[in-house]
Amino acid sequence: MKYALNSIRFRSWLLYVSFALLIIGFLYFFQVLSLPANYERMKINETASAVKELKDVWNNDPTNISKVVSEYAHSKKMYIEISDVNRIFVRLSQLDKNNKEVEQIIRRLDQTKMDKLKYGNDVYYTSTLPRSHTDSKAIIMTAVIAQEGKNNGVFQTNGEVRIYIYNYLEPIGSTAEIINNQLTFASVVIIFCAFILSVFFSNSFTKPIVEISKSALKLPQGKFHMKKRKHQFSEINDLTEALNSASDEIAKTDDLRKELMANISHDLRTPLTMIKAYAEMIRDLSGDIPEKREKHLQVIIDETNRLSSLVTDVLDLSKLQSGVAEMNYSVIDFSEHLTQLVTRFTLLDEVKDYHLDLNSEKGIFINADITKIEQVVYNFINNALTYTGDDRTVKIRLYRKENGIARFEVSDSGVGIDEENLKYIWERYYRIKNVGETHQRAKKGSGLGLSIVKGVLEMHKFRYGADSTVNVGSTFWFEFDEYKEKPAEITASKKTKRNAK
Ligand code: ADP
Repeated sequence: MKYALNSIRFRSWLLYVSFALLIIGFLYFFQVLSLPANYERMKINETASAVKELKDVWNNDPTNISKVVSEYAHSKKMYIEISDVNRIFVRLSQLDKNNKEVEQIIRRLDQTKMDKLKYGNDVYYTSTLPRSHTDSKAIIMTAVIAQEGKNNGVFQTNGEVRIYIYNYLEPIGSTAEIINNQLTFASVVIIFCAFILSVFFSNSFTKPIVEISKSALKLPQGKFHMKKRKHQFSEINDLTEALNSASDEIAKTDDLRKELMANISHDLRTPLTMIKAYAEMIRDLSGDIPEKREKHLQVIIDETNRLSSLVTDVLDLSKLQSGVAEMNYSVIDFSEHLTQLVTRFTLLDEVKDYHLDLNSEKGIFINADITKIEQVVYNFINNALTYTGDDRTVKIRLYRKENGIARFEVSDSGVGIDEENLKYIWERYYRIKNVGETHQRAKKGSGLGLSIVKGVLEMHKFRYGADSTVNVGSTFWFEFDEYKEKPAEITASKKTKRNAK
Protein backbone atom coordinates (compact mmCIF):
# COMPACT_ATOMS: atom_id res chain seq x y z
CA MET A 1 0.00 0.00 0.00
CA LYS A 2 1.43 3.36 -0.99
CA TYR A 3 1.63 6.36 1.32
CA ALA A 4 2.14 8.99 -1.37
CA LEU A 5 1.85 12.67 -0.49
CA ASN A 6 -1.28 12.94 -2.64
CA SER A 7 -2.94 9.83 -1.19
CA ILE A 8 -6.29 10.12 0.60
CA ARG A 9 -4.62 8.53 3.61
CA PHE A 10 -1.94 11.21 3.94
CA ARG A 11 -4.25 14.07 2.95
CA SER A 12 -6.92 13.14 5.50
CA TRP A 13 -4.27 12.75 8.21
CA LEU A 14 -2.92 16.18 7.32
CA LEU A 15 -6.42 17.63 7.34
CA TYR A 16 -7.33 16.23 10.74
CA VAL A 17 -4.07 17.28 12.36
CA SER A 18 -4.21 20.77 10.80
CA PHE A 19 -7.80 21.16 11.98
CA ALA A 20 -6.83 20.13 15.50
CA LEU A 21 -3.89 22.58 15.49
CA LEU A 22 -6.17 25.36 14.26
CA ILE A 23 -8.62 24.77 17.09
CA ILE A 24 -5.79 24.67 19.64
CA GLY A 25 -4.44 27.92 18.18
CA PHE A 26 -7.84 29.60 18.56
CA LEU A 27 -8.24 28.33 22.10
CA TYR A 28 -4.73 29.53 23.02
CA PHE A 29 -5.40 32.96 21.57
CA PHE A 30 -8.74 33.46 23.31
CA GLN A 31 -7.97 31.73 26.59
CA VAL A 32 -4.39 32.71 27.25
CA LEU A 33 -3.21 35.66 25.15
CA SER A 34 -6.32 37.81 25.22
CA LEU A 35 -7.52 36.82 28.68
CA PRO A 36 -6.11 39.86 30.61
CA ALA A 37 -7.39 42.34 28.00
CA ASN A 38 -10.83 40.69 27.88
CA TYR A 39 -11.06 40.61 31.66
CA GLU A 40 -10.16 44.31 31.92
CA ARG A 41 -12.75 45.20 29.25
CA MET A 42 -15.39 43.21 31.10
CA LYS A 43 -14.59 45.01 34.40
CA ILE A 44 -14.72 48.45 32.72
CA ASN A 45 -18.16 47.58 31.32
CA GLU A 46 -19.33 46.36 34.71
CA THR A 47 -18.16 49.64 36.34
CA ALA A 48 -19.74 51.79 33.63
CA SER A 49 -23.08 50.01 33.97
CA ALA A 50 -22.95 50.65 37.73
CA VAL A 51 -22.31 54.36 37.07
CA LYS A 52 -25.26 54.48 34.70
CA GLU A 53 -27.67 52.79 37.07
CA LEU A 54 -26.64 54.93 40.03
CA LYS A 55 -27.06 58.08 37.92
CA ASP A 56 -30.63 57.01 37.07
CA VAL A 57 -31.47 56.26 40.69
CA TRP A 58 -29.93 59.60 41.87
CA ASN A 59 -32.03 61.56 39.39
CA ASN A 60 -35.28 59.61 39.53
CA ASP A 61 -35.50 57.83 42.86
CA PRO A 62 -33.04 59.58 45.29
CA THR A 63 -34.55 58.04 48.44
CA ASN A 64 -33.26 54.67 47.27
CA ILE A 65 -29.70 55.74 46.44
CA SER A 66 -28.07 54.53 49.67
CA LYS A 67 -29.66 51.12 49.25
CA VAL A 68 -28.56 50.68 45.64
CA VAL A 69 -25.02 51.95 46.38
CA SER A 70 -24.81 49.48 49.24
CA GLU A 71 -25.97 46.60 46.99
CA TYR A 72 -23.32 47.42 44.36
CA ALA A 73 -20.57 47.84 46.90
CA HIS A 74 -21.38 44.48 48.48
CA SER A 75 -22.00 42.36 45.44
CA LYS A 76 -19.22 43.74 43.23
CA LYS A 77 -16.75 44.73 45.97
CA MET A 78 -16.54 48.35 44.77
CA TYR A 79 -15.72 51.64 46.46
CA ILE A 80 -18.51 54.08 45.57
CA GLU A 81 -18.75 57.79 46.40
CA ILE A 82 -21.33 60.41 45.37
CA SER A 83 -20.45 64.00 46.25
CA ASP A 84 -20.75 67.63 45.14
CA VAL A 85 -18.11 70.35 45.50
CA ASN A 86 -18.77 70.75 49.24
CA ARG A 87 -19.78 67.46 50.70
CA ILE A 88 -20.08 63.74 50.30
CA PHE A 89 -23.62 62.40 50.15
CA VAL A 90 -23.03 58.69 49.98
CA ARG A 91 -19.84 56.74 50.44
CA LEU A 92 -19.65 53.04 50.76
CA SER A 93 -16.81 50.61 50.44
CA GLN A 94 -15.99 46.95 50.67
CA LEU A 95 -12.31 47.63 50.37
CA ASP A 96 -11.63 47.83 54.14
CA LYS A 97 -8.05 48.78 54.81
CA ASN A 98 -7.43 50.51 51.45
CA ASN A 99 -10.20 53.07 51.94
CA LYS A 100 -7.87 55.88 52.90
CA GLU A 101 -5.65 55.31 49.89
CA VAL A 102 -8.64 55.27 47.52
CA GLU A 103 -10.02 58.48 49.03
CA GLN A 104 -6.69 60.17 48.39
CA ILE A 105 -6.66 58.94 44.79
CA ILE A 106 -10.13 60.38 44.27
CA ARG A 107 -9.15 63.75 45.73
CA ARG A 108 -6.10 63.96 43.42
CA LEU A 109 -7.97 62.73 40.33
CA ASP A 110 -7.29 64.78 37.18
CA GLN A 111 -10.02 64.13 34.62
CA THR A 112 -7.95 65.47 31.72
CA LYS A 113 -5.44 62.65 32.16
CA MET A 114 -8.09 59.98 32.13
CA ASP A 115 -9.52 57.99 29.16
CA LYS A 116 -12.86 59.13 27.79
CA LEU A 117 -15.42 56.31 27.70
CA LYS A 118 -18.62 56.73 25.74
CA TYR A 119 -21.37 54.68 27.34
CA GLY A 120 -24.76 55.11 25.68
CA ASN A 121 -25.28 58.89 25.54
CA ASP A 122 -23.00 59.53 28.52
CA VAL A 123 -19.30 60.20 28.71
CA TYR A 124 -17.39 58.73 31.63
CA TYR A 125 -13.72 59.12 32.52
CA THR A 126 -11.71 56.07 33.41
CA SER A 127 -8.15 55.03 34.31
CA THR A 128 -6.46 51.75 35.06
CA LEU A 129 -4.01 52.15 37.99
CA PRO A 130 -1.52 49.85 39.60
CA ARG A 131 -2.42 48.85 43.14
CA SER A 132 0.10 49.42 45.87
CA HIS A 133 1.69 46.34 47.43
CA THR A 134 0.28 43.97 44.79
CA ASP A 135 1.03 43.20 41.17
CA SER A 136 -2.63 43.68 40.25
CA LYS A 137 -4.54 46.71 39.01
CA ALA A 138 -7.73 48.69 39.68
CA ILE A 139 -10.14 50.75 37.62
CA ILE A 140 -11.22 54.20 38.69
CA MET A 141 -14.18 55.75 36.92
CA THR A 142 -15.88 59.10 37.39
CA ALA A 143 -18.82 60.90 35.81
CA VAL A 144 -21.11 63.89 36.38
CA ILE A 145 -24.54 62.56 37.34
CA ALA A 146 -26.33 65.90 37.96
CA GLN A 147 -25.37 69.36 36.67
CA GLU A 148 -26.82 72.25 38.67
CA GLY A 149 -27.14 72.50 42.43
CA LYS A 150 -30.74 71.87 43.51
CA ASN A 151 -32.87 70.13 46.03
CA ASN A 152 -33.96 66.77 44.64
CA GLY A 153 -36.26 66.11 47.61
CA VAL A 154 -33.64 64.23 49.61
CA PHE A 155 -30.33 66.04 49.06
CA GLN A 156 -29.57 69.76 48.74
CA THR A 157 -26.67 69.94 46.28
CA ASN A 158 -24.29 72.70 45.40
CA GLY A 159 -22.86 72.69 41.85
CA GLU A 160 -22.39 69.46 39.88
CA VAL A 161 -22.74 66.08 41.52
CA ARG A 162 -20.15 63.38 40.70
CA ILE A 163 -19.91 59.71 41.19
CA TYR A 164 -16.62 57.88 41.71
CA ILE A 165 -16.27 54.14 41.49
CA TYR A 166 -13.13 52.23 42.29
CA ASN A 167 -13.14 48.59 41.19
CA TYR A 168 -10.44 45.92 41.65
CA LEU A 169 -9.00 43.85 38.81
CA GLU A 170 -8.23 40.49 40.38
CA PRO A 171 -4.76 39.14 39.57
CA ILE A 172 -5.36 36.68 36.69
CA GLY A 173 -1.74 35.79 35.91
CA SER A 174 -2.01 32.51 37.81
CA THR A 175 -5.40 31.71 36.20
CA ALA A 176 -3.87 32.24 32.77
CA GLU A 177 -1.00 29.99 33.75
CA ILE A 178 -3.38 27.21 34.84
CA ILE A 179 -5.30 27.52 31.58
CA ASN A 180 -2.03 27.47 29.70
CA ASN A 181 -0.95 24.24 31.39
CA GLN A 182 -4.33 22.62 30.83
CA LEU A 183 -4.31 23.72 27.23
CA THR A 184 -0.88 22.18 26.67
CA PHE A 185 -2.17 18.90 28.05
CA ALA A 186 -5.40 19.16 26.05
CA SER A 187 -3.39 19.93 22.88
CA VAL A 188 -1.35 16.75 23.25
CA VAL A 189 -4.55 14.72 23.77
CA ILE A 190 -6.35 16.42 20.84
CA ILE A 191 -3.43 15.88 18.45
CA PHE A 192 -3.11 12.27 19.54
CA CYS A 193 -6.87 11.70 19.03
CA ALA A 194 -6.76 13.50 15.67
CA PHE A 195 -3.89 11.24 14.63
CA ILE A 196 -5.68 8.05 15.67
CA LEU A 197 -9.01 9.17 14.18
CA SER A 198 -7.43 10.24 10.90
CA VAL A 199 -5.69 6.88 10.56
CA PHE A 200 -8.94 5.11 11.39
CA PHE A 201 -11.10 7.15 9.02
CA SER A 202 -8.64 7.26 6.17
CA ASN A 203 -8.31 3.49 6.45
CA SER A 204 -12.05 3.01 6.26
CA PHE A 205 -12.19 5.36 3.22
CA THR A 206 -9.29 3.86 1.36
CA LYS A 207 -9.66 0.16 2.12
CA PRO A 208 -12.74 -0.33 -0.09
CA ILE A 209 -11.22 1.87 -2.81
CA VAL A 210 -8.05 -0.25 -2.78
CA GLU A 211 -10.21 -3.40 -2.94
CA ILE A 212 -12.17 -1.98 -5.88
CA SER A 213 -9.04 -1.00 -7.76
CA LYS A 214 -7.61 -4.50 -7.19
CA SER A 215 -10.81 -6.02 -8.63
CA ALA A 216 -10.76 -3.56 -11.53
CA LEU A 217 -7.19 -4.65 -12.34
CA LYS A 218 -8.53 -8.17 -12.90
CA LEU A 219 -10.89 -6.96 -15.67
CA PRO A 220 -8.33 -7.45 -18.44
CA GLN A 221 -7.85 -11.06 -17.29
CA GLY A 222 -11.53 -11.67 -18.03
CA LYS A 223 -12.58 -11.80 -14.37
CA PHE A 224 -15.48 -9.51 -14.74
CA HIS A 225 -17.58 -9.54 -11.65
CA MET A 226 -16.65 -7.81 -8.41
CA LYS A 227 -17.66 -8.95 -4.96
CA LYS A 228 -20.90 -7.31 -3.89
CA ARG A 229 -20.11 -6.18 -0.36
CA LYS A 230 -22.08 -3.50 1.48
CA HIS A 231 -19.69 -0.71 2.44
CA GLN A 232 -20.50 1.92 5.02
CA PHE A 233 -20.25 4.78 2.52
CA SER A 234 -22.97 5.13 -0.09
CA GLU A 235 -20.54 6.71 -2.61
CA ILE A 236 -18.32 3.62 -2.44
CA ASN A 237 -21.38 1.40 -2.95
CA ASP A 238 -22.34 3.52 -5.97
CA LEU A 239 -18.81 3.18 -7.36
CA THR A 240 -18.89 -0.62 -6.94
CA GLU A 241 -22.31 -0.66 -8.54
CA ALA A 242 -21.11 1.48 -11.48
CA LEU A 243 -18.00 -0.67 -12.01
CA ASN A 244 -20.07 -3.83 -11.78
CA SER A 245 -22.50 -2.65 -14.42
CA ALA A 246 -19.54 -1.51 -16.57
CA SER A 247 -17.93 -4.92 -16.18
CA ASP A 248 -21.28 -6.57 -16.98
CA GLU A 249 -21.35 -4.55 -20.18
CA ILE A 250 -17.77 -5.56 -20.99
CA ALA A 251 -18.67 -9.19 -20.29
CA LYS A 252 -21.72 -8.91 -22.54
CA THR A 253 -19.66 -7.35 -25.33
CA ASP A 254 -17.08 -10.07 -24.89
CA ASP A 255 -19.77 -12.76 -25.12
CA LEU A 256 -21.20 -11.03 -28.17
CA ARG A 257 -17.76 -10.88 -29.77
CA LYS A 258 -17.26 -14.62 -29.19
CA GLU A 259 -20.75 -15.35 -30.50
CA LEU A 260 -20.14 -13.14 -33.52
CA MET A 261 -16.92 -14.97 -34.34
CA ALA A 262 -18.66 -18.34 -33.95
CA ASN A 263 -21.60 -17.23 -36.09
CA ILE A 264 -19.45 -15.73 -38.81
CA SER A 265 -17.23 -18.82 -38.99
CA HIS A 266 -20.30 -21.01 -39.12
CA ASP A 267 -21.97 -18.92 -41.79
CA LEU A 268 -18.80 -18.84 -43.85
CA ARG A 269 -18.29 -22.55 -43.56
CA THR A 270 -21.81 -23.57 -44.68
CA PRO A 271 -21.67 -22.04 -48.18
CA LEU A 272 -18.03 -23.09 -48.54
CA THR A 273 -18.96 -26.70 -47.76
CA MET A 274 -21.76 -26.50 -50.31
CA ILE A 275 -19.50 -24.98 -52.94
CA LYS A 276 -16.88 -27.67 -52.35
CA ALA A 277 -19.47 -30.48 -52.43
CA TYR A 278 -21.12 -29.26 -55.65
CA ALA A 279 -17.77 -28.62 -57.33
CA GLU A 280 -16.76 -32.22 -56.49
CA MET A 281 -20.08 -33.44 -57.82
CA ILE A 282 -19.51 -31.65 -61.12
CA ARG A 283 -15.99 -33.09 -61.31
CA ASP A 284 -17.04 -36.66 -60.48
CA LEU A 285 -20.62 -37.02 -61.69
CA SER A 286 -22.39 -34.28 -63.53
CA GLY A 287 -19.54 -32.79 -65.54
CA ASP A 288 -20.74 -34.47 -68.71
CA ILE A 289 -24.46 -34.13 -68.11
CA PRO A 290 -25.25 -30.52 -69.09
CA GLU A 291 -28.61 -30.32 -67.35
CA LYS A 292 -27.32 -31.50 -63.96
CA ARG A 293 -24.11 -29.53 -64.37
CA GLU A 294 -26.13 -26.31 -64.91
CA LYS A 295 -28.13 -26.99 -61.75
CA HIS A 296 -25.04 -27.70 -59.69
CA LEU A 297 -23.23 -24.67 -61.06
CA GLN A 298 -26.25 -22.54 -60.14
CA VAL A 299 -25.98 -23.77 -56.52
CA ILE A 300 -22.31 -22.81 -56.55
CA ILE A 301 -23.16 -19.33 -57.91
CA ASP A 302 -25.96 -18.84 -55.32
CA GLU A 303 -23.72 -19.88 -52.45
CA THR A 304 -20.91 -17.64 -53.71
CA ASN A 305 -23.37 -14.73 -53.76
CA ARG A 306 -24.45 -15.52 -50.23
CA LEU A 307 -20.84 -15.68 -49.15
CA SER A 308 -20.02 -12.41 -50.77
CA SER A 309 -23.05 -10.62 -49.28
CA LEU A 310 -22.13 -11.94 -45.83
CA VAL A 311 -18.56 -10.68 -46.19
CA THR A 312 -19.88 -7.29 -47.41
CA ASP A 313 -22.21 -7.08 -44.40
CA VAL A 314 -19.42 -7.87 -41.94
CA LEU A 315 -17.14 -5.32 -43.58
CA ASP A 316 -19.87 -2.65 -43.62
CA LEU A 317 -20.64 -3.22 -39.99
CA SER A 318 -17.04 -3.11 -38.84
CA LYS A 319 -16.48 0.07 -40.86
CA LEU A 320 -19.55 1.71 -39.30
CA GLN A 321 -18.63 0.62 -35.81
CA SER A 322 -15.01 1.67 -36.00
CA GLY A 323 -16.10 5.04 -37.38
CA VAL A 324 -14.03 4.83 -40.57
CA ALA A 325 -17.07 4.73 -42.84
CA GLU A 326 -16.92 7.83 -45.03
CA MET A 327 -20.07 9.87 -45.50
CA ASN A 328 -20.76 11.29 -48.96
CA TYR A 329 -23.62 13.67 -48.43
CA SER A 330 -25.70 14.83 -51.36
CA VAL A 331 -29.18 16.26 -51.80
CA ILE A 332 -31.65 14.22 -53.84
CA ASP A 333 -35.36 13.99 -54.49
CA PHE A 334 -36.03 11.06 -52.17
CA SER A 335 -39.63 10.61 -53.44
CA GLU A 336 -38.39 10.09 -57.00
CA HIS A 337 -35.45 7.93 -55.91
CA LEU A 338 -37.73 5.71 -53.85
CA THR A 339 -40.03 5.08 -56.82
CA GLN A 340 -37.04 3.93 -58.88
CA LEU A 341 -35.79 1.73 -56.06
CA VAL A 342 -39.13 0.02 -55.52
CA THR A 343 -39.52 -0.54 -59.27
CA ARG A 344 -36.11 -2.18 -59.29
CA PHE A 345 -37.29 -4.43 -56.46
CA THR A 346 -40.46 -5.50 -58.28
CA LEU A 347 -38.38 -6.64 -61.25
CA LEU A 348 -36.58 -9.22 -59.09
CA ASP A 349 -37.66 -12.73 -59.86
CA GLU A 350 -37.95 -13.83 -56.25
CA VAL A 351 -40.33 -10.94 -55.47
CA LYS A 352 -42.74 -11.60 -58.31
CA ASP A 353 -45.36 -13.19 -56.03
CA TYR A 354 -45.30 -10.26 -53.57
CA HIS A 355 -47.11 -6.95 -53.70
CA LEU A 356 -45.14 -3.78 -52.96
CA ASP A 357 -47.54 -0.95 -52.21
CA LEU A 358 -45.75 2.42 -52.53
CA ASN A 359 -47.42 5.58 -51.32
CA SER A 360 -45.09 8.56 -51.51
CA GLU A 361 -45.68 12.32 -51.28
CA LYS A 362 -43.96 14.11 -54.13
CA GLY A 363 -40.87 16.32 -53.93
CA ILE A 364 -39.45 15.33 -50.55
CA PHE A 365 -35.73 16.07 -50.64
CA ILE A 366 -33.16 14.49 -48.37
CA ASN A 367 -29.57 15.43 -47.56
CA ALA A 368 -27.82 12.13 -46.95
CA ASP A 369 -25.27 9.58 -48.08
CA ILE A 370 -27.69 8.10 -50.54
CA THR A 371 -25.86 4.80 -51.09
CA LYS A 372 -26.05 4.11 -47.37
CA ILE A 373 -29.70 5.22 -47.15
CA GLU A 374 -30.48 2.88 -50.06
CA GLN A 375 -29.01 0.11 -47.94
CA VAL A 376 -31.44 1.02 -45.14
CA VAL A 377 -34.42 1.10 -47.50
CA TYR A 378 -33.34 -2.19 -49.03
CA ASN A 379 -33.01 -3.79 -45.60
CA PHE A 380 -36.41 -2.63 -44.37
CA ILE A 381 -38.15 -3.81 -47.59
CA ASN A 382 -36.23 -7.06 -47.70
CA ASN A 383 -37.08 -7.89 -44.07
CA ALA A 384 -40.73 -6.94 -44.60
CA LEU A 385 -40.87 -9.21 -47.66
CA THR A 386 -39.24 -11.96 -45.65
CA TYR A 387 -41.56 -11.80 -42.66
CA THR A 388 -44.84 -10.56 -44.15
CA GLY A 389 -48.06 -12.57 -43.81
CA ASP A 390 -50.15 -14.55 -46.23
CA ASP A 391 -51.37 -11.46 -48.10
CA ARG A 392 -47.74 -11.08 -49.26
CA THR A 393 -48.07 -7.33 -49.15
CA VAL A 394 -45.54 -4.75 -48.02
CA LYS A 395 -46.57 -1.12 -47.61
CA ILE A 396 -43.97 1.57 -48.22
CA ARG A 397 -44.79 5.16 -47.29
CA LEU A 398 -42.98 8.47 -47.51
CA TYR A 399 -44.78 11.51 -46.15
CA ARG A 400 -44.36 14.89 -44.47
CA LYS A 401 -44.98 15.09 -40.75
CA GLU A 402 -45.21 18.40 -38.89
CA ASN A 403 -42.34 20.93 -38.52
CA GLY A 404 -40.46 20.08 -41.69
CA ILE A 405 -39.90 16.47 -40.71
CA ALA A 406 -40.42 13.70 -43.24
CA ARG A 407 -41.00 10.05 -42.40
CA PHE A 408 -40.20 6.89 -44.32
CA GLU A 409 -41.82 3.66 -43.19
CA VAL A 410 -42.17 0.07 -44.32
CA SER A 411 -45.00 -2.07 -42.91
CA ASP A 412 -45.79 -5.71 -43.23
CA SER A 413 -48.66 -7.88 -42.06
CA GLY A 414 -46.48 -10.66 -40.72
CA VAL A 415 -45.65 -12.44 -37.50
CA GLY A 416 -44.63 -9.25 -35.76
CA ILE A 417 -42.03 -9.05 -33.01
CA ASP A 418 -42.79 -9.37 -29.31
CA GLU A 419 -41.70 -6.64 -26.89
CA GLU A 420 -38.79 -8.62 -25.44
CA ASN A 421 -37.20 -9.23 -28.86
CA LEU A 422 -38.03 -5.76 -30.17
CA LYS A 423 -35.39 -4.33 -27.80
CA TYR A 424 -32.62 -6.42 -29.32
CA ILE A 425 -33.32 -6.62 -33.05
CA TRP A 426 -30.89 -3.72 -33.70
CA GLU A 427 -28.02 -5.63 -32.13
CA ARG A 428 -25.61 -7.34 -34.45
CA TYR A 429 -26.25 -10.98 -35.10
CA TYR A 430 -29.53 -10.94 -33.25
CA ARG A 431 -32.05 -13.22 -34.89
CA ILE A 432 -35.33 -14.19 -33.38
CA LYS A 433 -35.35 -17.92 -32.85
CA ASN A 434 -37.85 -20.09 -34.77
CA VAL A 435 -38.84 -17.28 -37.16
CA GLY A 436 -36.40 -18.62 -39.74
CA GLU A 437 -38.01 -22.02 -39.59
CA THR A 438 -41.42 -20.77 -40.63
CA HIS A 439 -40.22 -18.23 -43.18
CA GLN A 440 -38.35 -19.65 -46.12
CA ARG A 441 -36.69 -16.35 -47.11
CA ALA A 442 -35.43 -15.80 -43.52
CA LYS A 443 -32.89 -18.60 -43.91
CA LYS A 444 -30.82 -16.26 -46.03
CA GLY A 445 -30.47 -13.59 -43.32
CA SER A 446 -27.21 -12.95 -41.53
CA GLY A 447 -28.65 -11.11 -38.51
CA LEU A 448 -26.45 -8.12 -39.37
CA GLY A 449 -28.90 -6.14 -41.51
CA LEU A 450 -30.57 -4.07 -38.79
CA SER A 451 -27.33 -3.34 -36.95
CA ILE A 452 -25.97 -1.91 -40.22
CA VAL A 453 -29.20 0.11 -40.56
CA LYS A 454 -28.77 1.37 -37.00
CA GLY A 455 -25.15 2.40 -37.69
CA VAL A 456 -26.12 4.24 -40.87
CA LEU A 457 -29.09 6.07 -39.33
CA GLU A 458 -27.11 7.06 -36.26
CA MET A 459 -24.31 8.46 -38.44
CA HIS A 460 -26.95 10.58 -40.18
CA LYS A 461 -28.44 11.51 -36.78
CA PHE A 462 -31.88 10.42 -38.01
CA ARG A 463 -34.55 9.22 -35.60
CA TYR A 464 -35.54 5.62 -36.22
CA GLY A 465 -37.47 2.74 -34.71
CA ALA A 466 -39.73 -0.24 -35.10
CA ASP A 467 -43.32 -0.65 -33.94
CA SER A 468 -44.72 -4.11 -33.92
CA THR A 469 -47.67 -6.20 -32.76
CA VAL A 470 -47.39 -9.95 -32.66
CA ASN A 471 -49.42 -11.63 -35.44
CA VAL A 472 -50.49 -8.25 -36.82
CA GLY A 473 -47.28 -6.95 -38.34
CA SER A 474 -44.36 -4.57 -37.99
CA THR A 475 -43.51 -1.07 -39.14
CA PHE A 476 -39.88 -0.02 -39.47
CA TRP A 477 -39.30 3.71 -39.89
CA PHE A 478 -36.87 6.59 -39.90
CA GLU A 479 -37.40 10.35 -39.87
CA PHE A 480 -35.29 13.15 -41.32
CA ASP A 481 -35.40 16.89 -41.82
CA GLU A 482 -36.89 17.59 -45.21
CA TYR A 483 -34.24 19.45 -47.20
CA LYS A 484 -35.52 22.78 -48.47
CA GLU A 485 -33.27 24.83 -50.72
CA LYS A 486 -33.30 26.71 -53.97
CA PRO A 487 -34.29 24.31 -56.78
CA ALA A 488 -31.22 25.33 -58.87
CA GLU A 489 -28.80 24.07 -56.26
CA ILE A 490 -30.71 20.85 -55.80
CA THR A 491 -30.76 20.11 -59.52
CA ALA A 492 -27.03 20.80 -59.68
CA SER A 493 -26.27 18.42 -56.86
CA LYS A 494 -28.61 15.84 -58.35
CA LYS A 495 -26.70 15.98 -61.62
CA THR A 496 -23.34 15.59 -59.91
CA LYS A 497 -24.70 12.60 -58.10
CA ARG A 498 -26.01 10.94 -61.24
CA ASN A 499 -22.76 11.51 -63.11
CA ALA A 500 -20.81 10.06 -60.27
CA LYS A 501 -22.88 6.88 -60.31
P1 ADP B 1 -31.63 -10.80 -40.83
O1 ADP B 1 -30.52 -10.77 -41.80
O2 ADP B 1 -31.73 -12.07 -40.06
O3 ADP B 1 -32.92 -10.35 -41.41
P2 ADP B 1 -31.73 -8.34 -39.44
O4 ADP B 1 -30.69 -7.65 -38.60
O5 ADP B 1 -32.17 -7.63 -40.65
O6 ADP B 1 -31.19 -9.76 -39.74
O7 ADP B 1 -32.96 -8.61 -38.51
C1 ADP B 1 -32.77 -9.15 -37.22
C2 ADP B 1 -33.95 -9.98 -36.81
O8 ADP B 1 -35.08 -9.15 -36.59
C3 ADP B 1 -34.38 -10.94 -37.87
O9 ADP B 1 -33.65 -12.15 -37.82
C4 ADP B 1 -35.86 -11.16 -37.54
O10 ADP B 1 -35.94 -12.14 -36.54
C5 ADP B 1 -36.27 -9.83 -36.96
N1 ADP B 1 -36.99 -9.00 -37.96
C6 ADP B 1 -36.47 -8.06 -38.77
N2 ADP B 1 -37.43 -7.49 -39.53
C7 ADP B 1 -38.58 -8.10 -39.20
C8 ADP B 1 -39.95 -7.98 -39.63
N3 ADP B 1 -40.31 -7.10 -40.57
N4 ADP B 1 -40.89 -8.79 -39.06
C9 ADP B 1 -40.52 -9.66 -38.11
N5 ADP B 1 -39.27 -9.85 -37.65
C10 ADP B 1 -38.31 -9.08 -38.19
